[in-house]
Amino acid sequence: MNDVLIDGNWLEGERGEFDVVDPATLAVVARVSDAGPADAVAAVDAAAAALPAWSATAPRARADLLMRTRELMLRDTEELAALIASENGKSLVDARGEVGYAAEFFRWFAEEAVRPHGDFGSSPAGGTRTVVTHHPVGVAALVTPWNFPAAMATRKIAPALAAGCTVVLKPAAETPLTALAVARLMHEAGIPSGVVNVVPGLDGPAIVKAWTDDPRVRKISFTGSTNVGRQLLRQASDRVMNTSMELGGNAPFVVTADADLDAAVDGAMIAKFRNGGQACTAANRFYVHADVAAEFTARLGARVEKLVVGPACEGSDIGPLISAKALANVTRLVESALVTGARVAHRAAPATAPGHFFTPVVLTGVTAESDVVREEIFAPVAPIVTWTSEAELLAQVNDTEFGLAAYVFAGDLGAALKLAERIEAGMVGINRGLVSDPSAPFGGFKQSGIGREGARAGLEEYTETQYFSVAW
Ligand code: NAD
Repeated sequence: MNDVLIDGNWLEGERGEFDVVDPATLAVVARVSDAGPADAVAAVDAAAAALPAWSATAPRARADLLMRTRELMLRDTEELAALIASENGKSLVDARGEVGYAAEFFRWFAEEAVRPHGDFGSSPAGGTRTVVTHHPVGVAALVTPWNFPAAMATRKIAPALAAGCTVVLKPAAETPLTALAVARLMHEAGIPSGVVNVVPGLDGPAIVKAWTDDPRVRKISFTGSTNVGRQLLRQASDRVMNTSMELGGNAPFVVTADADLDAAVDGAMIAKFRNGGQACTAANRFYVHADVAAEFTARLGARVEKLVVGPACEGSDIGPLISAKALANVTRLVESALVTGARVAHRAAPATAPGHFFTPVVLTGVTAESDVVREEIFAPVAPIVTWTSEAELLAQVNDTEFGLAAYVFAGDLGAALKLAERIEAGMVGINRGLVSDPSAPFGGFKQSGIGREGARAGLEEYTETQYFSVAW
């Protein structure tokens, strides 16, 4: 196979090929070219060569190409959803939802690309005028995870291209097929050769090191775990690279005594079980007021018991975890919670397929110190902790190095907003279980990251501010 996309050419990888495996069936779904550091450098050659013409292309012309890419993605929704499901394992409903979400980044940033953005003012002392503009940062290296193989790529590619940057992308080794399919659609849309280059490979560290070592690469935008993010920040510091980091989460889901419990359970089903719990925004720990904990648990449990777990097909709600390692990790977390007094209050019916399936569970009697609430679970496990004092609740909610998403369900909207303001998280869903939205600034506080994706802020991540001081 020729899957390394450099300067519009589909090439072999310098290291041969690797298998992409369906985590639901453990069958090999494709063999993909295995790129290495020399391929990574060649991709930068192409991106650097394409940069002057692309950054000089009129914003409207760039926007039209992004909009066309969105149309092509929507045209191919079913094929893309099937591809996502085959390499990631998520349900078809989740996969179709991801295609729509991923395509929306092209529309949002096509619209943003053409909005004039800058400033003009006079200096306090007079005699000069200050003209502020924004410059594309240059060649951007994009590194994405496996959990949203389409959306994590388009959330970076669309703003980079809208800003006038060219890119080199390394998709996760588990799920390279979707990014490659999106790149084909970008080519079909007419995006010029060299503007988007894709380098799939098993040895992510070697590929990305070639980029952080290359002075032509001015930006690295990474989505993935906090541990790898830390390492890339260290690498990027040598050349003082512009960095954006979308890292791990440990989202609290708070239910107050006056919350609408139907809405809270609907929100919990989305926040916890969308994508099988494998989302950085996934509700990781539930803090339910003691007055309503039994009722909330019963209603949530009834919904969880009805979840259909299995390979992606019509009617299936939850797929497998991505790997045997992920399965071992969640098994460890649940077992350690059970040892410290938690119990399985509700469980779905197990899958019968051979893949890395974990049966969704609701845990009660969980203590705030338990590993299952302190670590990122990344699986369909809903641990419930009860609370009575708001001060103690806030102390527990904020007692984490993460600060990505949080959820608050409360009857009194004013009280909900006041509570949300005191939660150290970049995104808070208030009476809703979904915070991802291309028009909103996605990102975290603390060790959940640096920078924002989506919104106007997402475009600014790919620009440098430049000003002209003009004698007047
Ligand atoms: P990961 O950090 O293991 O890998 C992410 C990407 O980095 C992959 O492409 C991988 O090949 C590459 N990589 C791994 N080690 C590397 C290294 N040493 N040098 C360079 N590249 C390297 O993460 P994952 O398991 O793929 O994804 C799950 C994590 O991603 C979770 O922690 C989740 O919370 C986080 N995530 C965050 C967001 C967000 O927007 N904040 C979104 C999705 C996922």
